[in-house]
Amino acid sequence: MTQRPKPVPVVNPWARPFWDAAMEDRLTFQKCKDCGANIFYPRIACTECFSDNLDWVNASGKGTIYSYTVVENNSPTAFLGDCPYVVAIVRLDEGPQMLTNIINCDPYSIQCDMPVKVVFEQLNEEFKLPKFQPI
Ligand SMILES: [Zn+2]
Repeated sequence: MTQRPKPVPVVNPWARPFWDAAMEDRLTFQKCKDCGANIFYPRIACTECFSDNLDWVNASGKGTIYSYTVVENNSPTAFLGDCPYVVAIVRLDEGPQMLTNIINCDPYSIQCDMPVKVVFEQLNEEFKLPKFQPI
């Protein structure tokens, strides 16, 4: 069985700055200029006050694992060869949470509240994916 290529992100116009920054190894999120809320994933309006007066800011790249699962097997998708791999929700130090992968470690060594930092994995010439590894 040949392995299918991995899917690439579908990028909305308002999310383009996030992916451009990732190509420069910068993790970013949106900050509302009106109420100060930190927002991720990219939106066209603030999740707290609905303002469209949003700015992009750099994250520290550090956070903790809020929740995770180890994927040990799945149907024949492009990710089958990666098993076992970790799908996690990382809570950034700045507050926003990201659905991501934890890499560069034993998947069975992961624990909730473990400190992690971002690493960028080159997907292709167009995309780098922000993933995390234990500190
Ligand atoms: Zn706001």
